[in-house]
Order: sequence, then structure tokens, then C-alpha cells
Amino acid sequence: MKKPKAIVTSGPTRERIDPVRYISNDSSGKQGHAIAEELRLAGYEVVLISGVTNLSNPEGVRMVHIETAEEMLTACVAELPADLAVCAAAVSDWRVEYVSKNKIKKEDAVDKLTLNFVKTPDILSLLARCDERPELIVGFAAETENLIENAQKKLHKKACDIIIANDVGLTSGVFGGDLNEVCLITQDKVETWPKMSKNDVAKKLVKYLKERLK
Ligand code: C5P
Repeated sequence: MKKPKAIVTSGPTRERIDPVRYISNDSSGKQGHAIAEELRLAGYEVVLISGVTNLSNPEGVRMVHIETAEEMLTACVAELPADLAVCAAAVSDWRVEYVSKNKIKKEDAVDKLTLNFVKTPDILSLLARCDERPELIVGFAAETENLIENAQKKLHKKACDIIIANDVGLTSGVFGGDLNEVCLITQDKVETWPKMSKNDVAKKLVKYLKERLK
């Protein structure tokens, strides 16, 4: 029997400023990679589309390495159709409008350097609204305030089925850490999970997804 297929995005994206500089974020990719691994153990064909991380490739998972949000989107679309998409990547919301071909010189920039930023595509939203929409789509909401309220808004705005919301305030230690404290949010419920390892969050999430996809 053909295995159900899951697309997982993970890690940070990098948006170039010039050949040696970029903007990015602190995402380690640990949560996304753990979910990919659990899905594979649960019998899924998994493609893990990841930005640059220090993690090793999970066994038995097909890796697609990307750098930018645009590349992540192209890679996701190329993997459709799929049964499930879990968008755990911390995608840069902005990219620099004009990437400099050459390294920007200090002396050229006078005292101030002004960069224009434009929005990157919202991969989660696009997957949730495309013709080949996976049956179940999971998004993440990393918030520093009004966690539940902001995550519920995100669920509607992005048209996904489930949001895993976590508090990433500076004292939470979530970015880069091994522990996570999340809420699972759907149209009709909010489930608060106790603090646990990112591996255990992945296990609990995959168990929930398997039940929903039955
Ligand atoms: O809007 P925000 O970045 O808070 O949304 C977070 C969720 O949306 C995550 O699941 C993330 O992977 C996804 N996202 C995306 N493409 C973007 C921005 C966020 O897929 N450009």
C-alpha cells in the first residue's frame, strides 16, 4: 500500500543582503526535524524542507535544503500533492528588496545604511489555499504576547486546520532549547500541553494527526 505523504518545513530561512550578509532568525529546526522523524516512524513518506541548521538529517526522511523563503515555497509546491503539511519553519517575513551583487562597502554606506524590505510569500497560507491543498495543514505561531488570541487569529487568517502555539519570549528558552510548552489550537478547541521535550511534542502531535486523518 502507498504510504501517505507529509511535507514538513523546518529551520530558519536566510534572506540575502549581499553575498556575505543575510537576515535570519534564531530557529534551530529542532521541533520541525523531530516532527519529520516521528511522521516517518508513523509510516509516512516524509520530505523535510529545511533552512540551514546544525542538525543531522533524520534517517529515512528525504531532505530538501533551501536558503530563502522563495526557495522554500518552490520546494513545497514541487512536492504536492501531499496528504499532510506541517509548516514548522521560522520563515523570514521580509526580504531585502534589492540584493546587492557585490559586498556592500562600509565606505560607500556613509553613516547610515538604508535597506528596503518587502514581504516574503506566506507558504502556509498558500498551501492552505491552493488547488492541491493537503488534507490536513498544521502551522505554528511563535508569539511573545496574547498567545491564544493571536494563534486563533492566525488559524483563520492562514486557513490552516491546526496551530501549535508557543511563547517565544526572551525568557522562554524555546528557540534553540530542547523543551517546548505549546497549545494545540483548532476551530473548536484549545488544548494546553505541559512543558515537555520537543521530541515528545512531536510524538503527541503525530498521534493527534494520525487520529484526525483516520
Ligand atoms: O505569520 P507567522 O510568521 O507568525 O506565522 C507562522 C506560521 O506560518 C508558521 O507555521 C510558519 O512556518 C508559517 N509561515 C510561512 N511562510 C511565511 C511566514 C510564516 O509558511 N512567509
